[in-house]
Amino acid sequence: MATETVGTPASLASGNTKVYRNFIDGEWVESSTGETFEDRNPADTREVVAIFQKSGKDDVNAAVEAARLAFERWRLVPAPRRAEIVFLAAEMLAERKEEYSRDMTREMGKVIKETRGDTQEAIDTAYYMAGEGRRMFGPTTPSELPNKFAMAVRHPLGVCGMITPWNFPMAIPSWKLLPAIVCGNTCVIKPAQDTPLSTFNLVRALVDAGLPKGVINIVTGFGASVGGPLTEHPEVRAISLTGSTAVGRTVGVTAAKSFKHCSLELGGKNPMIVLDDANLDLAIEGGLWGGFGTTGQRCTATSRIIVQKGVYREFVDRYVARAKKLKIGNGLDETVDVGPAINEAQLKTDLSYVDIGRDEGAKLACGGNRLDKGDYQYGFFMEPTVFIDVDSKMRIAQEEIFGPVVSILPCDGLEDAIEIANGVEYGLSSSLYTRDVNKAFAAMRDLYAGITYINAPTIGAEVHLPFGGTKATGNGHREGGIGAIDFYTEWKSVYIDYSDKLQRAQIDRPE
Ligand code: NAD
Repeated sequence: MATETVGTPASLASGNTKVYRNFIDGEWVESSTGETFEDRNPADTREVVAIFQKSGKDDVNAAVEAARLAFERWRLVPAPRRAEIVFLAAEMLAERKEEYSRDMTREMGKVIKETRGDTQEAIDTAYYMAGEGRRMFGPTTPSELPNKFAMAVRHPLGVCGMITPWNFPMAIPSWKLLPAIVCGNTCVIKPAQDTPLSTFNLVRALVDAGLPKGVINIVTGFGASVGGPLTEHPEVRAISLTGSTAVGRTVGVTAAKSFKHCSLELGGKNPMIVLDDANLDLAIEGGLWGGFGTTGQRCTATSRIIVQKGVYREFVDRYVARAKKLKIGNGLDETVDVGPAINEAQLKTDLSYVDIGRDEGAKLACGGNRLDKGDYQYGFFMEPTVFIDVDSKMRIAQEEIFGPVVSILPCDGLEDAIEIANGVEYGLSSSLYTRDVNKAFAAMRDLYAGITYINAPTIGAEVHLPFGGTKATGNGHREGGIGAIDFYTEWKSVYIDYSDKLQRAQIDRPE
């Protein structure tokens, strides 16, 4: 959680609280504004996890210049060598997994088993992308002319700007930084103001593994004052943003003005369909994990559960009974299931949707309240909340809440369920519980989303498959796997004529 403070970094360093400077050209640099902000623990706001620079446009300019100069050297380092550094960083992250996961729980509240998963995702991405350093394949293909050779090679773009959210504070930066540098780009990253520490931890492993100066630069601060100038900067060739659809729209429009490559990974309102023939034990387990894992603060969170009428009552009764039993608290306690909201504003949003749902006539089956007694008083805790008998047109069934609020909707069958599932502005993840293979294949075809799970909830992406969504979830790019290599490179087609004469394509047609 970020709290704005103004003062010199030195004057704020109290006790063991560490003050982080920006990381530019391999040096630790104070921001040009002379201001800082606090990264506080959302489970216990008395704890200042660390202090970071509240940067501005001048800091962005310095970081981009460092990245621009570094690019001239880094692009010439052979890709397998660049990848070796990433491989070594994976080994270091694995050694430091527990330390970095605990830091992450302290800075953003996610329970420790999930922050271990977040760190592991960065490790997996690093191993995968290290392998790509020896692939990065492109086509060689016959020329239409004799004695002529044709191929296409991947080239890096140059300086890439990355803007990341707080909910996967190491995994998401790793999805962007690691393919970018293996492909030969250099980077300026602005991590979410609520979670800069995990980005520093990731980059520290890369630097310890031998990453040359200037290849990755970190500028901390807020959206408009750091993300804005980064998006506008004429030397930045690509922008990759993961965040809300509203911010994505702004960033996309700005990036388009200077013809930057632009990857937008945005919001979701993800449906899980449960048909009459489903294994209900499995569906209830999956729906709880998908709905309340990461306190519902995943872009892929199972925020809508669409249940066929034959099993609706049983599903609702059992699901609500289980939701009531989830343990809420500080994520460092291994027995806790659900941590806090990231900050006061997000908690207020979550609670406001309880009122919205009630006003719309949905039935509140459990939860809905802030927890603020005893140990809870220092954090942003809320009861897991379930609305039932929800109509698909209601705002709680249409809008991304990004909190522990699940809507359950009845449906007549698969066709009806798919219409409800597709009837929102987003299209990130989706899921279906059934034992009928015909229905499963129909859903895989007809759910208009970037991801579909069968007999699993809407969360659980693996790093080597494409990740992203349709409609207002993004602009058609995918992270993960080869999609990332496609985004961070551009094609150059190369023709080598060894005929010793002018051969005109499409004109000099060989007999
Ligand atoms: P956010 O949009 O508020 O912020 C995302 C990042 O953008 C932050 O670093 C923020 O400082 C920056 N930003 C804000 N305004 C900006 C501006 N005008 N110009 C440039 N940068 C700006 O989102 P958040 O609250 O950090 O994260 C939650 C959102 O992210 C949810 O909507 C969630 O669905 C989405 N998300 C999507 C994915 C995905 O892959 N599709 C993954 C995780 C989160």
